[in-house]
Amino acid sequence: MSETDVLIVGAGPAGLTLACELGLAGVPALVIERDPAPPGHCRGFNLNARSLDLLDRRGLAARFLAEGPTVPTTAFTGTARLDLTAMRTGHPYVLGIPQTRVEELLAERAAELGVRVLRGHRLTALRQDDDGVDAEVDAPDGPLTLRARRLVGCDGGRSTVRRLAGIPFPGTPARRFTLLGDVVLADPDSLPFGVTGAVFAVPRPGCVRLITTDPEPPQDHREPVTPAGFQRALDRALGRHVQIAEARWLTRFGDAARLAERLVHGRVLLAGDAAHIHPPAGAVGVNAAIDDAMNLGWKLALVSRGHAPAGLLETYHTERHAAGEALLRATRAQAVLAREDEDLAPVRELLAALATEEETAGLLAETVTAVGTRYPAPGSSGHPWDGRMVPDVPLEGEGLLPLLARTGGGVLLLDGDPQPSAAAAAPWADRVVPARARPGALAGAAAVLVRPDGHAAWTAAGPACPAGPLREALARWFGPPGRETAGGARPDAGAAG
Ligand SMILES: Cc1cc2nc3c(=O)[nH]c(=O)nc-3n(C[C@H](O)[C@H](O)[C@H](O)COP(=O)(O)OP(=O)(O)OC[C@H]3O[C@@H](n4cnc5c(N)ncnc54)[C@H](O)[C@@H]3O)c2cc1C
Repeated sequence: MSETDVLIVGAGPAGLTLACELGLAGVPALVIERDPAPPGHCRGFNLNARSLDLLDRRGLAARFLAEGPTVPTTAFTGTARLDLTAMRTGHPYVLGIPQTRVEELLAERAAELGVRVLRGHRLTALRQDDDGVDAEVDAPDGPLTLRARRLVGCDGGRSTVRRLAGIPFPGTPARRFTLLGDVVLADPDSLPFGVTGAVFAVPRPGCVRLITTDPEPPQDHREPVTPAGFQRALDRALGRHVQIAEARWLTRFGDAARLAERLVHGRVLLAGDAAHIHPPAGAVGVNAAIDDAMNLGWKLALVSRGHAPAGLLETYHTERHAAGEALLRATRAQAVLAREDEDLAPVRELLAALATEEETAGLLAETVTAVGTRYPAPGSSGHPWDGRMVPDVPLEGEGLLPLLARTGGGVLLLDGDPQPSAAAAAPWADRVVPARARPGALAGAAAVLVRPDGHAAWTAAGPACPAGPLREALARWFGPPGRETAGGARPDAGAAG
């Protein structure tokens, strides 16, 4: 029986991002993927500001940004387009990039970091005990058993892991269905890109992606969509005939909204669609999957290295379950607003008006893109950054983003004389790097403890950073103090000035 620290089930955006995070931290991890080859069709086609901010904290955003155009607005389904430029983000736009390409880039990065993806390997059963999890796998050369200290189900909305672990998936079933077709039109000029009537048309290589409501979903919505059925739905939505010459990929998806009751169940964890499914409004599924994995990776790495403080993995559940609730709320609200119901017209009008005001547009945009995500930051000083993604503040030496990307660990940002705080943090030097910010760059804070995923775990109000609370915060997020490095920790890269 082969053994690893973390077994990841599923090589979609969640599984591959987690593989990259664990690879960066040097944690032995393995990905198993049911499908023998990457998918021939492409579901998502965008990354939002939140994903790009997270990828930036691993030095990866540029690879993705090189792949497609950016657009400074996003749809707030049923009402208006939202201006993204007022958001607190390093990337105030949506990047057009096929999900297939996102997965290729993540798989390349995982391979660079030495994490293997075994394709054609389907999880069929699992058993957890006090020390680990046994996974039964159907593999190309026959069944095998893999053992891991922990197993993460990144295996999509119909998650086998979730079912086998017996984790309830409460929520609402699909009631309305959307049709998606990658098609070639007989006359490409017969339908412009963008929204026409109830049809959304997006350019795809060599074809056009059409999205419209399914007026006649079958009893079993998993029944395949036929070219004739898609043509009927298209003509009905347009009120005229637009001839489809070739249907390359047709599918149907519903507006079910469900959130797993537990994201951590003993040694089994869930991330991505396995943890939450939601109406398609706003096109955020890939982004939520990356978000879950970035939250989980560094915590699993600390557990694997034996440094994790009590309850650290539980914060994955607390933080990402709350994020899942917010995701369901935002997507369900948009799904309701998109209904053909005249009673909703005043609500749509009100929201459309709010979306033209800079402040409310910014808040709406931060809600639907998850840029406004804020995690609990106990013991903090009431600073505006508490629990939020820390901006790319200027440091005396190496920048914050490259520092996070290089170490994959925490960073202690210090204003003023860094030596006393750096000395207090020395026993955590193998997990947290102190760095000196340019004077005033911390917006009035004396110290900001940055988690590996870029969020502020703890802040200290100026002018000085108190050693006792700093040690408490370090122990709460990064575990018990270790041995001090010879001479104590030095502020990184010239930070001592
Ligand atoms: C038609 C459509 C359009 C969409 N458009 C967008 C969009 O524009 N933007 C956006 O952000 N999101 C979009 N989404 C949502 C997005 O595709 C998902 O939210 C995203 O793929 C979730 O990532 P994941 O890694 O959690 O799961 P998945 O991408 O579903 O990956 C799960 C993986 O697990 C594997 N697997 C399953 N069972 C097993 C098993 N037993 N053993 C081993 N492997 C297994 C699967 O083969 C799969 O590769 C769309 C979805 C659909 C259906």
